[in-house]
Amino acid sequence: MCLKAKIMKQDHRTLVWFRGKDLRVSDHEPLIEALKVGEVIPLFVVDPYFFHPLRARKLPHRMQFLLESISELSDNLASLGSQLICVSGSSVVMVPELAQRWGVTQVVAHRWTEPFGRVRDARIADELSVPLKLYEGETLHPPGSLRTGKGSPYSVFTPFSRALRRQAQISVAIPPPDSIEPVPKIALSDHEKIPALETLGIQRNPSLQKGGETAGQNRLKLFLEKHATGYAKGRDQLGESATSRLSADIKFGTLSVRTIWEKVQEVKSDLCAESIETFQTELIWRDFAHSTLWDRPEVLKQPFRPAWVGFPWRNDPADWKAWTDGRTGYPVIDAAARELRETGFVHNRARMITASFLCKHLLIDYRRGESHFLKYLTDGDWAQNNAGWQWSAGSGCDAQPYFRVFNPFSQGEKFDPDGNYVRRWIPELKLLPNRYIYRPWDAAPEVLAKAKITLGADYPLPIVDHATARERFLRVAKAYLKPTG
Ligand SMILES: Cc1cc2nc3c(=O)[nH]c(=O)nc-3n(C[C@H](O)[C@H](O)[C@H](O)COP(=O)(O)OP(=O)(O)OC[C@H]3O[C@@H](n4cnc5c(N)ncnc54)[C@H](O)[C@@H]3O)c2cc1C
Repeated sequence: MCLKAKIMKQDHRTLVWFRGKDLRVSDHEPLIEALKVGEVIPLFVVDPYFFHPLRARKLPHRMQFLLESISELSDNLASLGSQLICVSGSSVVMVPELAQRWGVTQVVAHRWTEPFGRVRDARIADELSVPLKLYEGETLHPPGSLRTGKGSPYSVFTPFSRALRRQAQISVAIPPPDSIEPVPKIALSDHEKIPALETLGIQRNPSLQKGGETAGQNRLKLFLEKHATGYAKGRDQLGESATSRLSADIKFGTLSVRTIWEKVQEVKSDLCAESIETFQTELIWRDFAHSTLWDRPEVLKQPFRPAWVGFPWRNDPADWKAWTDGRTGYPVIDAAARELRETGFVHNRARMITASFLCKHLLIDYRRGESHFLKYLTDGDWAQNNAGWQWSAGSGCDAQPYFRVFNPFSQGEKFDPDGNYVRRWIPELKLLPNRYIYRPWDAAPEVLAKAKITLGADYPLPIVDHATARERFLRVAKAYLKPTG
């Protein structure tokens, strides 16, 4: 390096702001770019917006994963020679204050899609006396950048997906740095401890996926070795773990989405092309959800389709309780509710069936289900969760048509013919023969007796009759949504 370049490098000091969606040292463009120009100070702000105990307790599973991931990020930065400086306070106040106190010449971070993140970043950019540089990387392609021939956002997935495959230049993932110079002394005295889960009033859940970059890389390795090539067939099987289970890693950025794209591309061959493409299409669904939220931030509050505004939901409290407790009497719905609370994860097929059931069979506002999922899902993500719920209700962008109502027992029978999913989550039904496991009410008294189950006592009778509830929803929806649908 020539003397001039050396001097310029020393002149720069960058605050690299890690903000909960990029908790890794691999493929971290802001970090790598900052290292090219000078000193770096890695920062995590423990913002009460998320970390106030009253708020943190509303997202216990995400908090556990998040704190584990921050802790590993801190270790990884330390092993490279640096240090993650943790500071508590409002980001809008702390980032400009620290930037000034530490004498940084720029602040860098990954861009967020969510409306509140965008507002926060605009306020911080205003407050800072140095540039705030935001890098893309949360998605495969920058949200809001793909446009139809007429210049408008895509509202149908297939053309969006085609356009992304055609236009997106998914760059090669960047390896982690070999080393990082120690953090300048001036920042060290501001460092506080990473909060412990227990101090936030959250009890550790041992059944959750482990957070952190190493656990994410191990999950990716397992997926590539065991499931990626059979994904097209396996992904809908409720009783098997044949999907990647990478959603929380993608959410918290312990793995970058382009690393995952690249790694599955590497195992693609003629024999498994369909599986790899199907998997990549799921990653594009994720981009679609983020793009929709970018262009239509109001979807977090109201239906995407205007016809659904003011929809006459019933919101019956007893039905809501039965759904959240996993006691509706429909085994697939109840298994999903229990899996959610116990593990923070629900299989995609079960998410679709149970969301449809809540909105359509029980006529409960999708936003209540959306909040409940956000509370317990480890991968709880504003864009994807909203898209999933609005898709299921029928009110969303390129949603399932309102008149398509999932049948809660035939879906189970089709996607888990051996009843493994139900037996795992509803042990009280485990002795029932397969043919009744998704509809115990059809079993003769002697079959129930042999399976040691009394319906209405050990396990509830269905809280609604499928055909009647379906008819009720269709009647209400047809009348309300007429004529736009
Ligand atoms: C009602 C409902 C709510 C949902 N809420 C969330 C959520 O909060 N967070 C979340 O990450 N996903 C959500 N999804 C999408 C999907 O269910 C999960 O991403 C998936 O089940 C995670 O498991 P996996 O990592 O094994 O997925 P895989 O099948 O291995 O897919 C790989 C990745 O693609 C993305 N993906 C897969 N399916 C979808 C989809 N339908 N829409 C958008 N992205 C997708 C995820 O990032 C996922 O990790 C929701 C779906 C529904 C129907």
